[in-house]
Amino acid sequence: MSSGSERLFSRAAQLMPGGVSSPVRAFQAVGGTPVFLERGEGCLVWDVDGNEYVDMVGSWGPLILGHSHPAIVTAAVAALERGTSFGAPSPGEIELAELVLARYPGSERVRFVNSGTEATMSALRVARAATGRDAFVKFEGNYHGHADPFLVAAGSGALSTGVPSSAGVPGDVTRHTLVAAYNDLDGLERLFAERGSDLAAVIVEPVVGNMGVVPPRPGFLEGLRRLTRGAGAMLIVDEVMTGFRLAAGGAVERYGLEPDLVTWGKVIGGGFPVGAYGGPAALMDLVSPVGAVYQAGTLSGNPVAMAAGVATLRELASNHDVYRQLERLGERLERGLLAAASDAGTPVTVNRVGSMITVFFTAQPVEDLAGAKSSDTAAFARWFRGLLRRGVYWPPSQFEAAFVSAAHDANAIDRVVAAAAAAFVEASG
Ligand code: PMP
Repeated sequence: MSSGSERLFSRAAQLMPGGVSSPVRAFQAVGGTPVFLERGEGCLVWDVDGNEYVDMVGSWGPLILGHSHPAIVTAAVAALERGTSFGAPSPGEIELAELVLARYPGSERVRFVNSGTEATMSALRVARAATGRDAFVKFEGNYHGHADPFLVAAGSGALSTGVPSSAGVPGDVTRHTLVAAYNDLDGLERLFAERGSDLAAVIVEPVVGNMGVVPPRPGFLEGLRRLTRGAGAMLIVDEVMTGFRLAAGGAVERYGLEPDLVTWGKVIGGGFPVGAYGGPAALMDLVSPVGAVYQAGTLSGNPVAMAAGVATLRELASNHDVYRQLERLGERLERGLLAAASDAGTPVTVNRVGSMITVFFTAQPVEDLAGAKSSDTAAFARWFRGLLRRGVYWPPSQFEAAFVSAAHDANAIDRVVAAAAAAFVEASG
């Protein structure tokens, strides 16, 4: 007998490409049918068949306070009742702008958009306008949304010019995209020696989440700052995933960075579609209507989304222990997973920064895309399915971060570890 999720998935597949609104959700990397979720509370979610899961996806990062947090629900409902959208300035934008900028002392102005994709593409436009240059550097295995210039094949060598990694992206657009290896400062030095004066920007995930979690090597981010400054290029720190997650001031605070431009998303929208980009007034005042960089949005600064974001950032600010709590839970999960893998004789590398974590099915350290790709993705897929059967909703791809939220507790983490232990044994068979 087919499950409710299976029936929905076969209907969805007739209506939407792959049956989904975003590709990874289709479970293609892990096999099986995606579960259709219909309810979430705290760290738990339930599918349409009534199965309960400890959620380690957290909507891919936004839900740092867990599902249906009462403060967020109350704020969003109150905003909703006052009107869904005005297309005019509304007070919530000011509140959210103040809360975001307060944690990023180098940023004086912020523009709200509707997604991380819009944030990064707009920040790049500002960097290009500010420098009068077209070329920029992105790192292999870093993801900055699906705008054309960022969709460049990973795996290119440090000095190679970009080749589109998606059909429909003109080579004319991506020829300005230079790809470098993450964590390889020597490679970057060489690239800057050759092309530094052509570069508008370097964009970086300060802690990578999008090839699985890969932390920066000591000195890498500092080196980026030195090289960009020396070449008159902008440093764009993409905090869409890490902002308000790794610390109140994100990776910028955690690693003491001095970016020119910052992009945000996920957490600042409290589970609603919000992105943002910001920087010093001199840069951000290049943006329309003050400056000549055009960027706009019908639903940008949406009052319901702003209210949810404000409630989230207020809640985070009011709990002085929240980032320490996330660290403790992350540590407990990391220790538990390592012990479970070791007991099962499964070689893994666990990378974690704060509440972002990935279990790579490889014995070698993972410090770049090549390391991530050394993982046994078939073993990961078996492990994932074992977790799902045991009531743990883990990201359905080896190359994604799992997220701990403030709604998880030691109990929930131990449930994940117990399921993981059994799944490791099963996956190794
Ligand atoms: N930048 C980073 C670092 C991201 O992780 C993501 C999404 N995972 C994006 C940009 C794109 O954001 P969105 O999916 O909201 O367009």
